[in-house]
Amino acid sequence: MQQSRLDKAQFQAALTRQWQRFGLGSAQEMTQHQWWQAVSAALSELVPACPVINHSEQQRHVNYISMEFLIGRLTANNLLNLGWYEDVQAYLAEENIILSDLLEQETDPALGNGGLGRLAACFLDSMATVGQSAIGYGLNYQYGLFRQSFEQGQQIEEPDNWGRESYPWFRHNTQLDVEVNFGGKVVITDDGHETWQPEFTLIGEAWDLPVIGYRNGVTQPLRLWQATHASPFDLDKFNAGQFLTAEQQGVEAAKLTKVLYPNDNHQEGKRLRLMQQYFQCACSVADILRRHLLAGRKIEDLPKYEVIQLNDTHPTIAIPEMMRILLDKHQMSWETAWEITSHTFAYTNHTLMPEGLECWDEDLVSHLLPRHYSIIKEINYRFKKLVDKTWPGEPAVWEKLAVHYNHQIRMANLCVVAGFAVNGVAALHSQLIVKDLFPEYHQLWPNKFLNVTNGVTPRRWIKQCNPALSGLLDRTLNREWINDLDALKTLEPYADDAAFREEYRAIKQSNKILLSNYVNKVMGLKLDPNAIFDVQIKRLHEYKRQHLNLLHILSLYKQIQENPALDIVPRVFLFGAKAAPGYYLAKNIISAINQAAEKINNDPIVRDRIKIAFIPDYKVSVAELMIPAADVSEQISTAGKEASGTGNMKLALNGALTIGTLDGANVEIAEQVGDDHIFIFGHTVEEVKALKAAGYDPLKLLKEDQHLDNILKALASGEFSYSDKRAFDMLLHSLIEGGDPYLVLADFASYCDAHKRIDTLYRDTQHWTRSAILNTARMGMFSSDRTIRDYQQRIWQANR
Ligand SMILES: *Cc1c(COP(=O)(O)O)cnc(C)c1O
Repeated sequence: MQQSRLDKAQFQAALTRQWQRFGLGSAQEMTQHQWWQAVSAALSELVPACPVINHSEQQRHVNYISMEFLIGRLTANNLLNLGWYEDVQAYLAEENIILSDLLEQETDPALGNGGLGRLAACFLDSMATVGQSAIGYGLNYQYGLFRQSFEQGQQIEEPDNWGRESYPWFRHNTQLDVEVNFGGKVVITDDGHETWQPEFTLIGEAWDLPVIGYRNGVTQPLRLWQATHASPFDLDKFNAGQFLTAEQQGVEAAKLTKVLYPNDNHQEGKRLRLMQQYFQCACSVADILRRHLLAGRKIEDLPKYEVIQLNDTHPTIAIPEMMRILLDKHQMSWETAWEITSHTFAYTNHTLMPEGLECWDEDLVSHLLPRHYSIIKEINYRFKKLVDKTWPGEPAVWEKLAVHYNHQIRMANLCVVAGFAVNGVAALHSQLIVKDLFPEYHQLWPNKFLNVTNGVTPRRWIKQCNPALSGLLDRTLNREWINDLDALKTLEPYADDAAFREEYRAIKQSNKILLSNYVNKVMGLKLDPNAIFDVQIKRLHEYKRQHLNLLHILSLYKQIQENPALDIVPRVFLFGAKAAPGYYLAKNIISAINQAAEKINNDPIVRDRIKIAFIPDYKVSVAELMIPAADVSEQISTAGKEASGTGNMKLALNGALTIGTLDGANVEIAEQVGDDHIFIFGHTVEEVKALKAAGYDPLKLLKEDQHLDNILKALASGEFSYSDKRAFDMLLHSLIEGGDPYLVLADFASYCDAHKRIDTLYRDTQHWTRSAILNTARMGMFSSDRTIRDYQQRIWQANR
């Protein structure tokens, strides 16, 4: 397909309809926000409707189910992918409207927590761009991830009512309503089959956002389900005297898609969350089957034409839902239903950490979804026969592999048993899945386990967020690189070209000035753009170790106190991170960083050699400002804990040098950019294991490291907390008496050493800039276009 040009007359007419709809007399009467609304709505009208999916015989269609799509602002991205940015910019300039200002009016649709949701958004962009026919299925939350502010350094959360009711890119597809049942019981039919007699019913409405391929004329839907109730009251039940049940539907429907659960890598076993999961899966499976049958295809052929990719275990309940429909609605035998189901689902694992692996209480499942519960028990029963045959007389193996055990339903195990593919998201992570998490499953089904290393879309994460650098690449490379990111390789020789280096450096400098202006505006803090901009942006989590970063900052501060003339390159430490509202230790770390900032930023002895800026409300639009301005990228998780990371990719692509552990995709980034252009430190996965096996004791370590001990003592002294000695108890307890589970203290010395190397290299501007250019040049493989092609070859289009 071809990209189409912007039809100016049509655009003008659509725009006119918009301001008329606002009840205004002319375009000039619109506020900035109305301009954004009107331009977006007008564009939305001009984008071809998401076509009925192209049911190609050659390609399996992908159904990407994810509880989160962290899409970020759409208007700028859609303009860019349509290739209409300049035309619209010119059109608006005639009305004295500056397009870039107007785009700032858009509230981020923050329908995700962090990396997992952002990955789903990058994948949609890449699938549309490489021509993989696909649909994304998610939920249309009324409230996205909370908004964050700070009061005396503490995180304050406020609801994010982002405006789904008037979001101009939505199309409500009224033909696609789905009925979703809950509760009730399983009954036996006359012919002896089990069937579900539910207690109440909600309706799922399909709200579609267009996913626009990069200048190729492709538009396909991101379909977000929104809950409503069938009618104000279920009259039958009402008349039968069941007022409460009838009323309940309205209440449940209003609640169901109201709010995104704010946990990252951590399960909360709440009934409402399970209802969200089932609601989403029931709507999506019904939609997939509706399309399949509408195309005149046989239900038995489902796996030939459709694949369902589960983004983590959150949508696992789609598996028993598929079985239920095949068994109860299509009256299939168990064997046939299982054959179809187990060739349709594929599962992406995102974590090895136990608190991230979902387990549901059997009572919750059996009350809310009794028929699914009985299907899961049957899957479990049949699978047990295989395990007993393979490991006779070894109940410990069954204890590990069971889907249903000890009154719990283990979603990851269900995914492995029922899926035809299981993938990790970086090479190291995929190895650990096989070695540590699922070794017995691997023994049963070695070919099920695959790696597909994550990637990020270059459209948003370089072209859109870093127009200056993109312009330089356009001028220098003389070829299309944006949908062929390996082309960046041809930039390598320019790393040795002094004139090019100067251009590249100047662009970084101008991006740092833009970020400084933002920090000054929102925080009233002045930054020196000549300082090293050292950036850590990601969810606040112990395993991501923002507190390790803090300890290094405190170490520099102590050194300045001891030697006021200390010669270090000035550094700005920038943070962006939200902590889950119930994660108190994470919130304690935020407050420690903010209070250290307050003290250090204002201490005259420091003479601006250190500045700390914790930018509030980290989200996609803030990431787009911070990433192009970063000199240093902090990727410092405990080895073995970060499945992949994608922030690491965005930052290196934009020319930040990574300081990182050999964890997740850092390993592959190091391979690509080369050891001389990255700062690796810390214990490796093997060393972490060995240290823990030998009985790691942080107290012993503190006895041997006086400097580190002094830093912790300073935190406990009230020096950073207006004499409140208890302010950081939680943080200190976890590092000392708590046993330092993430080895923060164990990696401290090596981390400080890596920072010294950064300080040294940065003094040599030519050398530093050369390394930064080589980072950009060598990050091509981390385009999510490559990731999607890997999914196609290894999973979606393999063994058809
Ligand atoms: C990329 C991204 C993430 C993921 O960051 P990691 O460093 O990989 O954890 C989280 N949030 C936002 C807004 C992002 O853009």
